[in-house]
Amino acid sequence: MEQIQLKANALSFLEDKIKLVKKGDEAIYLVGPIKLPINLYGETVEFKWYSWLKSENVTEDFQQVIDQLSSANLAEYQQSSVLVYGDFEYGEDALIRMHSICHTGDIFGSKRCDCGFQLKQSLKMIAEHGTGALFYLANHEGRGIGLFSKAMAYILQENGYDTVEANEGLGFPDDSRNYDDAIEVLKALRTKPVTLITNNPKKLKALKAAGASVSGRTPLWGDISEYNEKYLQTKVKKSGHMA
Ligand SMILES: [Zn+2]
Repeated sequence: MEQIQLKANALSFLEDKIKLVKKGDEAIYLVGPIKLPINLYGETVEFKWYSWLKSENVTEDFQQVIDQLSSANLAEYQQSSVLVYGDFEYGEDALIRMHSICHTGDIFGSKRCDCGFQLKQSLKMIAEHGTGALFYLANHEGRGIGLFSKAMAYILQENGYDTVEANEGLGFPDDSRNYDDAIEVLKALRTKPVTLITNNPKKLKALKAAGASVSGRTPLWGDISEYNEKYLQTKVKKSGHMA
């Protein structure tokens, strides 16, 4: 492996911003905070951004971690990240959103779902509240089935399947998302309880069961259109979502 010996001061800049979060016998390397000004409905709001990387190699020798980056081919995989607002570590009351990546909704602004709206709206809720964090979970595409399978699920939906039946028709459970790593990152950033922005009581239960300190839930609806009405109804009828 090629060794890149960073200049001592460059390494120290990075070392200050990398944290080893242990998860069983694995490591989560959390890097940040990094200032990230975000355009929210025409206003610039400054968030603190962190990304993380899971690894079987557990070390606090961060030069070693850096040495492995260029050969790890990380662009071929998805990495998750979190946007933090306000005094997240010590602030009394914090709102969090566990947002599942949605390539079509978040990036293209697709109206087939309400993800793009929820992403922006939850950032706005967090900023207005004063303290909080949005976790952007990159391995959650299509409730955990991946982008390619989601394209197929959409074809089934165009042929009369609902969103739950489509995932199941392709051999997936309706929802295969896992929040374990995000919860470890949450615990590394804040130990006090949080309020979860979600319409899905199951998500609240799952997070509590996985050890997150969640005190309650606040809903998020809106952006209902002719394109996503059926999808949103299915979430209510079949997946237990409620306002
Ligand atoms: Zn979506």
